[in-house]
Amino acid sequence: MSLEITRALEALAVAACETAYPEEGCGLLIGPVPPDLAAPERAVVVDEVRPLANGWDASAKTNRYAIDPRELARVEAALAPAGRGVVGFFHSHPDAPAWPSPFDLALAWPCVSYWILRVDQGRLSDSRSWRRSDDGRSFVEEAIHLEG
Ligand SMILES: [Zn+2]
Repeated sequence: MSLEITRALEALAVAACETAYPEEGCGLLIGPVPPDLAAPERAVVVDEVRPLANGWDASAKTNRYAIDPRELARVEAALAPAGRGVVGFFHSHPDAPAWPSPFDLALAWPCVSYWILRVDQGRLSDSRSWRRSDDGRSFVEEAIHLEG
């Protein structure tokens, strides 16, 4: 189980999260949608990173993020004909560990990657990727494979 992403795409997500500091940055991980979406060991392959505005209420953007569901639906509809889709989400934890919060778990979809970037004082200091367990009760960490 792993997240496959290039260094150039990683840099895009890092820049978005460092720029958003001290608020949480967030965005979509896009790639080919495999036929075996639910295969537990499959790799999530990312070929596009799309940073989005944090849609959460201004008072709590330092520890919450929200992605506009209408925007998400628009993106999915545009990608679907080419067999591509949203294969994961990234967001940052400003000055906090790159472990998912209970809030992250409550909102997590199955079968997609949750890449969390820890940003300390505006600079990336750690990043980890997670997938929700089948029973929805926890996250399992996956390897991040950087290519290119
Ligand atoms: Zn989080």
